[in-house]
Amino acid sequence: MNPEAKFLTVLRCLRCGATYAPGAIAYVCPCRPNMGSDLGTLDVQFDYTAIRQMFDPSQLTTDPDQSIGRYWPLLPIAGRQALPPLPVGGAPLLHAQRLGASLGLAHLFLKDDGRNPSASLKDRASAIAVARAQAAGRPVIATASTGNAAAALAAQAAAAGLPAVIFVPKSAPPAKLAQLLIYGASVLAIDGSYDQAFDLCTAACEEFGWYNRNTGYNPYMTEGKKTVSFEIAEQLARYKMQNRRYGATAPFVAPDALFVSVGDGCIIGGVYKGFSDLLALGWVDHMPRLYGVQSTQSAALYDAWRRGDALPTPVQATTRADSIAVNAPRDAVKALNAVRSSGGAFLAAPDEQILAAIAPLARLGAVFAEPAGAAAFAGLTQAVAAGLVQPDETIVVINTGSGLKDVGAAMSVTGGTTVIEPTLDAVKWALNQAST
Ligand SMILES: *Cc1c(COP(=O)(O)O)cnc(C)c1O
Repeated sequence: MNPEAKFLTVLRCLRCGATYAPGAIAYVCPCRPNMGSDLGTLDVQFDYTAIRQMFDPSQLTTDPDQSIGRYWPLLPIAGRQALPPLPVGGAPLLHAQRLGASLGLAHLFLKDDGRNPSASLKDRASAIAVARAQAAGRPVIATASTGNAAAALAAQAAAAGLPAVIFVPKSAPPAKLAQLLIYGASVLAIDGSYDQAFDLCTAACEEFGWYNRNTGYNPYMTEGKKTVSFEIAEQLARYKMQNRRYGATAPFVAPDALFVSVGDGCIIGGVYKGFSDLLALGWVDHMPRLYGVQSTQSAALYDAWRRGDALPTPVQATTRADSIAVNAPRDAVKALNAVRSSGGAFLAAPDEQILAAIAPLARLGAVFAEPAGAAAFAGLTQAVAAGLVQPDETIVVINTGSGLKDVGAAMSVTGGTTVIEPTLDAVKWALNQAST
């Protein structure tokens, strides 16, 4: 099978501007192969004229495939059959009316990407990674991860029958480690940080000829993650058509603002790429303002944005939100460009605010998020207070990972349960306690 997508044209280095034919380069531009955040990051480019000629977006309304395969002409794969047989995507977009009202917002939507096969947004990228590793005939696929990218890779690799090797910090939450082990990946728990695991994985891939899924290093991960934007725009359009007071008729509608948490910056870069694709195709009429939310205890990109720097200065990440605990963000160029070009902002929330955001998301929005997912909502709360968003705007918050990934975080917010005798008197006593 031809490993390349029909509509993929070149890979362009965002650092030196060099362009490469898709078969001529694997990961990063040799102008800067492996230097923390200052990588020769490649942007994958498509022939939008050709895509527009063969792909009419109205086809989507009758496509029974709810997975990311429905967007295959815009993906770096030869066709939807190249994806592993474990469908990714189709996560619901919920109109969170009560959660929105609590902040004075009329049109707040939650994209719950915790509802993917391995329970995080990372499934979108890992499906593409496995498809490309198989198309390239690689015997093994590897990644470094704070946990979710690895869980997603382990699941997709299991579906495809491809061996996977995972480098994780030994401090990853048990639920994530359990996912890796049970899907049968080879797990190397590193006595060190995510950043050290990342460099070790890259070295091992070079040494052993494995396919490298590393975030920010493998340029195709952005292309998987961008599918979240396609879905959001399609779902918003459907929602607005069904609620005629909005009067929308287009197959895709972009929100006014979107909030997502940021570690390496690959997701927010992917969100931007998704809307850029739709804009280039003429399928949406504007780019949403993108707000990237970090923890104050892992704020390298927030700091760089505030200072106006081209690249982040590494930090010592200590946040409880493990999925966004990153010292030297690897997709910094795409992330900073996403926020700057869209007219959004970076925000940084203290860990207490991030953890506190888990409860309203679940109680008023009915979405159970892990801390990194809840960080996006903590950022929205800050943005409302700062007047960055308006009450009548259409706002999307992405939950990037399920709360079941880290039940300890949720329990730290709620406290434990009250144990009672199995009697009605004890029930009355407990209800009385709860209401006082
Ligand atoms: C990976 C991850 C993020 C951050 O994504 P980056 O691409 O590293 O910025 C946020 N939330 C969750 C749940 C994640 O797994």
